[in-house]
Amino acid sequence: MTLTKTALAPEVAAIMGRLGVSADRYTGGTLAVTSPVNGEKIADAAQISSGDASDVIAKSHQAFLAWRLVPAPKRGELIRLFGEELRAHKADLGRLVSIEVGKITSEGLGEVQEMIDICDFAVGLSRQLYGLTIATERADHRMMETWHPLGVVGIISAFNFPVAVWAWNAALALVAGNACVWKPSEKTPLTAIAAHAIFDKALKRFVAEGGQAPAALSQLLIGGRDVGEVLVDDPKVALVSATGSTAMGRIVGPKLAARFARAILELGGNNAAIVCPTADLDLTLRGVAFAAMGTAGQRCTTLRRLFVHDSVYDQLVPRLIKAYGSVTIGNPLETGTLVGPLIDKGSFDRMQKALADAKANGGTVHGGDRVHEADAPNAYYVRPALVEMPAQCGPVEHETFAPILYVMKYSNFDDALELNNAVPQGLSSSIFTNNMREAEAFVSARGSDCGIANVNIGPSGAEIGGAFGGEKETGGGRESGSDAWKGYMRRATNTINYGASLPLAQGVKFDVE
Ligand code: NAD
Repeated sequence: MTLTKTALAPEVAAIMGRLGVSADRYTGGTLAVTSPVNGEKIADAAQISSGDASDVIAKSHQAFLAWRLVPAPKRGELIRLFGEELRAHKADLGRLVSIEVGKITSEGLGEVQEMIDICDFAVGLSRQLYGLTIATERADHRMMETWHPLGVVGIISAFNFPVAVWAWNAALALVAGNACVWKPSEKTPLTAIAAHAIFDKALKRFVAEGGQAPAALSQLLIGGRDVGEVLVDDPKVALVSATGSTAMGRIVGPKLAARFARAILELGGNNAAIVCPTADLDLTLRGVAFAAMGTAGQRCTTLRRLFVHDSVYDQLVPRLIKAYGSVTIGNPLETGTLVGPLIDKGSFDRMQKALADAKANGGTVHGGDRVHEADAPNAYYVRPALVEMPAQCGPVEHETFAPILYVMKYSNFDDALELNNAVPQGLSSSIFTNNMREAEAFVSARGSDCGIANVNIGPSGAEIGGAFGGEKETGGGRESGSDAWKGYMRRATNTINYGASLPLAQGVKFDVE
């Protein structure tokens, strides 16, 4: 590791310069940004006040009134250009994600690839915002559904997917004819400024090529929770898509409901996998190790609970413990590293508390200790923890946003299904089996109650084509593929009478002569 020797601030400045971001956006401000890679302060971003945030929202509403009149396929052209700009700047943005969040290089680049993929999806979608034509019971009438833009879409994002979550929302919201206001995590303003600068390049090209787009079509609010609250409370914001912890969702959800605004909530996950007697254990080992340790356990879909059939427990778990002991933990910017740092000290403290609770509940902890402390005293690297638990209790029932995998034995398949569903979070789940009955039962109505239920692949990660999200404490929202676009539009049912009579309800007669 070369942590102490790495000075990241100059590299950040060089990346920002290449993206055309002026230094006053990220120096001399009041929001200190620290890289989890080495604990170095890499920027002081300028923050917006709550009052100015309201002005931004008002401008966004004006932008919406103009943008909704632009034909949808033309709106798609803007997103096509955005996808091109992202391709051109993928290396810089991916690197910045790694510096600001501590993701390993391939994951930083992978996050930008997700942005590109959702742009491709949204471009096609801009020609497919289909409504139904519905058979009507009335003669000489036609009935149809039309989908219209909604208004200002507020996007609140979490630190661990600092740019992809915005793109999932913005690409769909913009082809749907909305204007967007984005409040990123206060831990990741730099990647937000950079991603937005790339969007601005696309917007400039769109206008230069003759497109009609208001300057305030997509705006960025750098600030803390108070700025997010402005977005949630402003009656001009028709939809808030908020990604983050269940604690945040519990505050944001009721506020939006109180003013009848629409919400897409993407909250925490406490994801499980079941390993059955017929599972391919080599495949399972790789699937479990990646899903549990990848991104240092800081994915909403990270595998956190593992139920292993007692007939294969002794074949699988010792190999897993070995894999946990040998994984390369270190500087995420160096090739060969598989596990980077935790985001900050708070995250480290919560992980240690969860491990202490697990021990108090009878768990046996393997790993979980801090590493590279001498090399990087202000960064928080940990060995991922595997905890053998006697039962699903204590910290196993909550999401701790760190690399802890709780492993439990089961002997009856129905019990394992019940344990999978027994926590309040319902985001993602998996089964490893070659038994067709178990696999099909897992994805059936009596199976996993999660928004994602996979067979022979871990629960982490998602592909743009499928709608992403989950039930229960995950908030019920859906983002990205499938028909998630409907969440960003309003539906009207239109009845058109092309005859000369006006059929009223049976038996009703109005004499208006
Ligand atoms: P967080 O809840 O601390 O913050 C998320 C965002 O919400 C931030 O931008 C924050 O400023 C804002 N916020 C917080 N309180 C607010 C309030 N009262 N009003 C308005 N905005 C408010 O989450 P985090 O630590 O950044 O991210 C980790 C969490 O996010 C984990 O629980 C993880 O599972 C979840 N997550 C979920 C998904 C998903 O798709 N389901 C994806 C990524 C992360």
